[in-house]
Amino acid sequence: MKIVSVEATPLEAPLAKFVARARQTVPLKARRCLVVKITTDEGLVGYGEGLTPVAPQPAAAVVREVLTPFLIGRDPLDSEPLWEKLYATNKSRGYTRGYQMIAISAVDIALWDLKGKILGQPVYRLLGGTFWDRIPVYATGLMMEGDTAAIVNLAHQYYAQGFRAMKLKIGQNARQEIETVRALRQTFGSDLKIMVDANGAYDPPTAIKIGRRLEELDVYWFEEPVTPEDVIGLTRVREHLNMYIAAGECEYTKFGFRELLLKNAVDICQPDVARAGGITECKKIAALAQAFNLYYAPHAWGGVICIAATLHLAASLPNLLVCEFDRVPNPLRDELPVEPLDFRDGFLHLPDRAGLGVTPNEEIMRRYTLAT
Ligand code: MG
Repeated sequence: MKIVSVEATPLEAPLAKFVARARQTVPLKARRCLVVKITTDEGLVGYGEGLTPVAPQPAAAVVREVLTPFLIGRDPLDSEPLWEKLYATNKSRGYTRGYQMIAISAVDIALWDLKGKILGQPVYRLLGGTFWDRIPVYATGLMMEGDTAAIVNLAHQYYAQGFRAMKLKIGQNARQEIETVRALRQTFGSDLKIMVDANGAYDPPTAIKIGRRLEELDVYWFEEPVTPEDVIGLTRVREHLNMYIAAGECEYTKFGFRELLLKNAVDICQPDVARAGGITECKKIAALAQAFNLYYAPHAWGGVICIAATLHLAASLPNLLVCEFDRVPNPLRDELPVEPLDFRDGFLHLPDRAGLGVTPNEEIMRRYTLAT
């Protein structure tokens, strides 16, 4: 079987209402992603996704201009040598991060989807089977808009949906954010796991000072307390706090994570499968984390293909802690799939269909396709 075509489609779905994000970033006005579709000479199709919240077009250009010539005519079951080939050709030009790795991630996910369809198995079975009959997830969605009462109200909605773990964005107004965490703790008691995510907003001393207050409120993890480039600063924060430190959503490949782990910077690794190198690479990152006795709790801020890839991989990992389930409005998650995600009682259930088990609706794809 041979690959006969590779299509890269940048998608952008506008949001009805802006979403406030972390301190240093602009409000979110649309959800975006790159979809890669790989077709074989027997007419089988695999879909992959690249994480491109800002602009999917550059990643689409990398797929078309750089990666596709290496894929046409190749056997899609050769995902491991193909990954090495694509990585090597970019590495030799110094491209080991950014859009090149996002493009490789999308291609790799599409190859795994295709492999599942060729072999008639869900991807998690090809990855070695599942440790979980359902995947534990937490809600990301307690953003920065609204006062404490509004955020507690939203948390009530998540709680009613079955979530017992939720993440609050912080990094703008520490006094109010600590009050919000206190209100969440008082409202839901010890039953609720509360995570906070600063998206790198603090310098190390401030992160430590705020972290000590959050520890008193039994916060479960402190995500990206300092900017992702400051690995030494992250190590310093981790040494001074007793709560879990989580990071890695901005990191790429096992080589990037090796640095994070050797510097004792994290307790919880958070690669995004649609950014850090796809299923092939994230399986290795998880093994690396296991060798350091660390948890894997994937970042997942993409559309439905990213979520499905995250779930299949997560199912196969002995050191999975919990998966992120973004609850911020996202038509690329909710409108795009032919088969909706199966969320029940605080868990996502793995699709049992061949491949990733999600098919994008081509008509919805066309509606959100960006001109290139
Ligand atoms: Mg984050």
